Amino acid sequence: MNNHEPINNSYLISCKIVRAIRAIIGDKTTTLHEPTFKGKEWEYVKDCLDSGFVSSVGQYVEKFENKIMEYTGAKYAVAVVNGTAALHLGLIVAGVKFDDEVLVPSLTFVATANAVSYIGAKPHFVDINANDLGIDATKLKAYLKEISEIKDGFCVNKKTGRVIRAIVPMHVFGHPCNLKELLPLCNEFKIKVVEDAAESLGSFYDKKHTGTFGNLGVISFNGNKTITTGGGGVILTDDIELATHAKHLSTTAKSNHPFAYIHTEIGFNYRMPNLNAALGCAQLEQLPELLKSKRRLYGAYAKAFSEISEVSLCQEPPLCQSNYWLQTIVLNEEFTSCREEIIETCIEDGISTRPVWNPLHKLSIYQNSPASPLPVTNNLSERIINIPSSAGLV
Ligand SMILES: *Cc1c(COP(=O)(O)O)cnc(C)c1O
Repeated sequence: MNNHEPINNSYLISCKIVRAIRAIIGDKTTTLHEPTFKGKEWEYVKDCLDSGFVSSVGQYVEKFENKIMEYTGAKYAVAVVNGTAALHLGLIVAGVKFDDEVLVPSLTFVATANAVSYIGAKPHFVDINANDLGIDATKLKAYLKEISEIKDGFCVNKKTGRVIRAIVPMHVFGHPCNLKELLPLCNEFKIKVVEDAAESLGSFYDKKHTGTFGNLGVISFNGNKTITTGGGGVILTDDIELATHAKHLSTTAKSNHPFAYIHTEIGFNYRMPNLNAALGCAQLEQLPELLKSKRRLYGAYAKAFSEISEVSLCQEPPLCQSNYWLQTIVLNEEFTSCREEIIETCIEDGISTRPVWNPLHKLSIYQNSPASPLPVTNNLSERIINIPSSAGLV
């Protein structure tokens, strides 16, 4: 090794990656993930406008919820304004209270932890595994054995004295995390599960849809997700009480009186508007095609990147069907320092690429939060790059 080698390496790898991506997407300029509107979007949105019901009352909201239930297999679905609001409500109805702790992966979008903070609870960061980028269940078990005890049927952090009420597993870039190991563990430690399936509509673990394993799960329909309602989210659950409570809270907790304003709790204005649900109904009809297209793109990338030994492309974990929401390359460890130049080179060439999120424990807002050792998070978060992932690229 001489001093110049890393620089040369960076340049060479960057060129290889640009060439591989260009070979697949042609000369298009592309953002990381764009929505596709090729179905009845205009028709349903116009119908919604014509009906006059554009806000939180209207037939499309219920239609959208029914279609989501049918597709995911969840018994109940509550449509709300966005995925963050869905997480917020999901955590509340799961029983998370002020000054509780909630286990959260550090490698996630900030909304996962913010939803915990809105309640006045504390995110407690835990490490991930390199196989699926989700929470490492084996490590978590050892960690909980060390730091917690079961007291009066609750998991208590021995150091802080706070109840560890819930966990929010996240399915990173659409790849399901290891639910088979995680769920029994949560059961054993009396920890409620709220799945952050924001990114994983169309992803299945052992043929069951992500977001339907925990006490509750949430999906996002933001503009950059697999399908969009403009802004939107949904809470999934098989528990009628949780579903009823979530819906009640999402509609200012107004009781069912024909005209009087009676609010039984401090609720939220989180209900999904009809206009957004109309768009969502059209988008859902397109979902199977979109998923096929995204899988085709993965196949094309897999072939191209198999010839670049310095990086590997993320693949769906065993037993899982991923929606391949964001295509992801991981630099081999010795090329970690090349990441910035690779991203810059791609962007200069008109190829939108992006590093994975800054791990949340490194943000000033969360640097004092409780955390387990996070070696895999720290290591992997410096090596991950997302590459153009929109449906319709190939
Ligand atoms: C997108 C996303 C959210 C938030 O969803 P919004 O609809 O944007 O509020 C939450 N968690 C994860 C992991 C996400 O990717």
